[in-house]
Amino acid sequence: MSDTKIAAANETKRGTNYSLYNGGSLQDWSQHKMEHPVRGKVRGKHFLKDHLDFTGCEISINSLPAGVAVPFSHQHKENEEVYIFIQGQGQMQIDHEIIDVSEGSIVRIAPNGLRTWRNNSAEPLVYIVIQVRENSLRQHTFEDGIPNMDPIDWPAI
Ligand code: ZN
Repeated sequence: MSDTKIAAANETKRGTNYSLYNGGSLQDWSQHKMEHPVRGKVRGKHFLKDHLDFTGCEISINSLPAGVAVPFSHQHKENEEVYIFIQGQGQMQIDHEIIDVSEGSIVRIAPNGLRTWRNNSAEPLVYIVIQVRENSLRQHTFEDGIPNMDPIDWPAI
């Protein structure tokens, strides 16, 4: 019997060098609730930092219902944001410029960019937002990776 770690929906499990969180299936992301400092109770937005112990970024998983627009714009003090759209269709407005987004659209916004977005479709708009300090990346990808060529042992499928 293999000793695999599984997290139930909305559960975190931790190992020595990892945290595992299960955000649930995409259609259930609209059920997440949070207390937002400006908007009050907000559904469909869920921050992951505390579930996963991030130390350099914040990530949220989001589902905006059909026809709904975020009711305000915002900027950031020092963090850039990356919006990764994984389902549905919508529009972002960045410094009053409108761009269409859909599954596969990935948008990076500098801290000073005034941003808002809406779902102008009949299906949920599902997306992930990564927030990270602008200019904090010192090395990346292959510069940061340390290859290990030890044999890998998987249990049989
Ligand atoms: Zn933001």
